[in-house]
Amino acid sequence: MPPLSKSLAELAARVAELEAEREMTLRLAQTDSLTGLVNRGAFTSGLCERLEAARESGGVVALFVIDLDRFKSLNDSLGHHAGDILLAEIGQRLRDDAGPDELVARLGGDEFAVVSGDPDIARRAERLVNAISQHHVIYGRTVASGGSVGVAAFPRDASDAADLQRYADMALYRAKSCGGRRWHGFDAELHAESERRRTLETELRRAIPAGEIEPWFQPIVDTMTGRFVGVEVLARWRHPEKGLLSPAAFVPMAEELGLIRTIDEAVFEAACAHAAPWVGEGLIELVSCNVSPRDLLDPGFSRKLIGRLAGTDLPATALTVEITETFLLQDMNLARRHIERLAARGVNVALDDFGTGYSNLRALMHLPIQTVKLDRSLIDDVGRDPRVSKLVASMLHAARSLGVRITAEGVEDESQALFLRSAGCDRMQGYFFARPMPADQMEAMLREAAAPPAPRFAAAG
Ligand code: C2E
Ligand code: CA
Ligand code: CA
Repeated sequence: MPPLSKSLAELAARVAELEAEREMTLRLAQTDSLTGLVNRGAFTSGLCERLEAARESGGVVALFVIDLDRFKSLNDSLGHHAGDILLAEIGQRLRDDAGPDELVARLGGDEFAVVSGDPDIARRAERLVNAISQHHVIYGRTVASGGSVGVAAFPRDASDAADLQRYADMALYRAKSCGGRRWHGFDAELHAESERRRTLETELRRAIPAGEIEPWFQPIVDTMTGRFVGVEVLARWRHPEKGLLSPAAFVPMAEELGLIRTIDEAVFEAACAHAAPWVGEGLIELVSCNVSPRDLLDPGFSRKLIGRLAGTDLPATALTVEITETFLLQDMNLARRHIERLAARGVNVALDDFGTGYSNLRALMHLPIQTVKLDRSLIDDVGRDPRVSKLVASMLHAARSLGVRITAEGVEDESQALFLRSAGCDRMQGYFFARPMPADQMEAMLREAAAPPAPRFAAAG
């Protein structure tokens, strides 16, 4: 048996080893493996600690958030590995540039943050802009990096970590949107905007359970017969004081707050309750609903939608789900799973706003997408500008050859409608036929149109 002192020494060594291992694991868990900087989780606790200390000492805590320009296009053109090299180099520059008490973190993707006690915020921001604006040689190619910086400071702008992050993000967004200036502080204008948003947020959270978000409907017309074939469901917020609000006033905010799914579900259910009988009576064949790219990032989205659809009287084959290219680009595999699952149940999938983004013909070839909605921006000059007309005609031709049906959006006058008919567009939608309207008006219009002879648009001769 070994003497007791030896066993104790071994035990102590083992404990020290375990402690070192634990420390290493802890450090790794707090480190971003690509850049060696602090990761998002450790950044948040580091920020809170510094705020705590500044509260006691009366110091300043400035939070700088940084977002690189054109990072995605670098990734796409030179590959992910080149992107990783650039991120690592930027991380190194930020670390070299930082003072000993500053916290430098990678928050994810091409987003970084620096927490600083430097009271000269403008000077520190300029230095950050310089640090990220550099030339790099990657795979023998010279790549210029650059980016924008947003900053908010304690105690001047915010008193806690959550507000500080929110305000710095708002300032960053402002810096990005006003091209010339590369950094932006949280100023009085942004403060007023944040107050407006805060009010809107409280009101929106209340509006959903209160049933203030309601479905409106805009008819979709069959180009050849001129008859209504379906409706698109468009959300409206009946605000108690501000009156009727269109989606632009609340959808982006709802997406940001993670409320869009609840809104889309509520609108879907209310829309089905109104429109299922219209389909049942043969007044229309399809009901087209918008879903946010945010809904679609939920892997359970299609399964849940199919479940909810089963609880309504709307047949699956009468439902179209409108998705945008933004989502296809975000996660092609998830997109495929959702679209295939929906298509297997007979639900139609339409690609919305086609012509505004990459106009991904590959997606049309490889995914069971049955409908494309040509964006209003393309339709605007159709029939007037020969080049636009030619482009739209060739898009219609390409889609037709893939067996995809086309709906033109934003048709506002007869010349556009006539051109689209001659170019073989299947369906049309727009103010020329009708504006979006509440359910009771939509129903009255559908009934009137169904009573013969009342085509909305002269049938093809
Ligand atoms: P969208 O899906 O592209 O919908 C078509 C928009 O164009 C609607 O705007 C419609 O009112 C408008 N519009 C239709 N015909 C014409 C026309 O001839 N001329 C012009 N100038 N505009 C026309 P709205 O209702 O303001 O909706 C805006 C966007 O908000 C929608 O664009 C859609 O992306 C989103 N949205 C609407 N409802 C919902 C919803 O329930 N959920 C989600 N996630 N998004 C929705
Ligand atoms: Ca749509
Ligand atoms: Ca659209």
